[in-house]
Amino acid sequence: MPVPCATGCGRNASLKRPKTGDALCKECFFWAFETEIHFTITRGELFNRGDSVAVAASGGKDSTVLAHVLKTLNERYNYGLNLILLSIDEGITGYRDDSLETVMQNSADYVMPLKILSYKDLYGWTMDEIVAQIGRKNNCTFCGVFRRQALDRGAALLNVKCIATGHNADDIAETVLMNVLRGDIARLKRCTAISTGSEGTIPRVKPLKYSYEKEIVMYAHYKKLVYFSTECVFAPNAYRGHARALLKDLEKIRPTCIMDIIYSGETMSVKEEVTLPTQRTCSRCNFVSSQEVCKACVLLEGLNKGLPKLGIGKSSKAKRMLEEYNAKQNDSLQEAISEINDEFKKNNCISKGKVCKSNCKSKENKHSTTDLNTVDANTNSCEQVHSNEVTDDNKETKCCNKKQYCTNKKTNETNESNSKAEKLLAEYGIPESSDKPNSIEETNSSQDKVCEIDVSNSVDNEEFDVDLHTNDEVILKEEDNTCAGACGKVDSLHIGF
Ligand code: SF4
Repeated sequence: MPVPCATGCGRNASLKRPKTGDALCKECFFWAFETEIHFTITRGELFNRGDSVAVAASGGKDSTVLAHVLKTLNERYNYGLNLILLSIDEGITGYRDDSLETVMQNSADYVMPLKILSYKDLYGWTMDEIVAQIGRKNNCTFCGVFRRQALDRGAALLNVKCIATGHNADDIAETVLMNVLRGDIARLKRCTAISTGSEGTIPRVKPLKYSYEKEIVMYAHYKKLVYFSTECVFAPNAYRGHARALLKDLEKIRPTCIMDIIYSGETMSVKEEVTLPTQRTCSRCNFVSSQEVCKACVLLEGLNKGLPKLGIGKSSKAKRMLEEYNAKQNDSLQEAISEINDEFKKNNCISKGKVCKSNCKSKENKHSTTDLNTVDANTNSCEQVHSNEVTDDNKETKCCNKKQYCTNKKTNETNESNSKAEKLLAEYGIPESSDKPNSIEETNSSQDKVCEIDVSNSVDNEEFDVDLHTNDEVILKEEDNTCAGACGKVDSLHIGF
């Protein structure tokens, strides 16, 4: 027997609202769902008339519904917003490439301009390449940190007033639970904020903060919205999954638990002695950071130096790794220098402070050899009078008076040795010039300068947490591969932007 819609509209109910248990017809459900979001926006004062707003779009259910509802409300209530879709291409074959097609479709359907930024363009790495380098353990740390910053960069590029993300009520309740379970009180309060971002940064707002995930799926389904629901190929089995499973079990018994948990997080007060992380800008890239150098810069440095674990875990660990790395670099540079010295001792002569690159046959008897680092022009000169300096390595020169003794060809060994040194010098960022380092001390000091990553201001023993999500609410630690992706899959471990 048909059940009438609880609003008294005269239509029959076609669904039971997960949030309230009301039996509603589709039209009344749409109205209730959209109106609640409108109240969230107006009560939270998320937008001002005339604002340009970037809608973080992944192609998943949350961001697709967000874009659709914002467009609807913008027209219905005349917000006067300029809505732009902003997507990040992480470079995950078989996942993001497909979901971006959905975003492009949404862009056409909702008549919203779309901006896509890729990790490859921003950082020089795709997620496929990062996973190939680091494996599957901490891939989501890189992905989440880079995505967060990529959105900031995109928003700055688009010159928008704020970024609207698709975080829903379930995501926020899960985050509250996770922070409680971890004892991460410092972030517990902040994680329920509807708008985040400190002065000078582009704020992020969550219009779907009070929208249940089940209702988002229902809305997308009944509205026949096009969204992407495939799980990321790198999806981990993360700690968030346990919080999600717990929440789903609780929701079955008591659907209001999601709102209740959010309310608990909102009204909880934190003792004064608990220090909250302060936001500032990264001294390297100038984007938002809670450290002197932001996590994205540290992770990228690690990738580029072949130290992918550099940004995983505590800052003190990163510092230690860098010290070891620099020490290793010193060792290998010194090794290369002594190899070069050996080669010179074998194959070269010194004249008037210049290294003769010729292969003088007389060197054994007449040329004294010397260490590259301790050249003494007075005591190590060629007995023959060098009429000219070496002018060209490839041509015959007037290096020695007794031309018949001088073939002036560099041996293969010397070439090899020099090219190795050049490679190392280039790798260490030491400018290659005719003025090669004269001493190991000099070499080391320039190397130290180049190889230094400025984590010095990161407080030792302070945990170097990763804000995994586009908002600050999900904190990833070394042992947790919480996904911050936007797969859009129902019941996946992912949450949207
Ligand atoms: Fe990125 Fe999510 Fe995939 Fe992890 S699972 S790599 S966070 S999209």
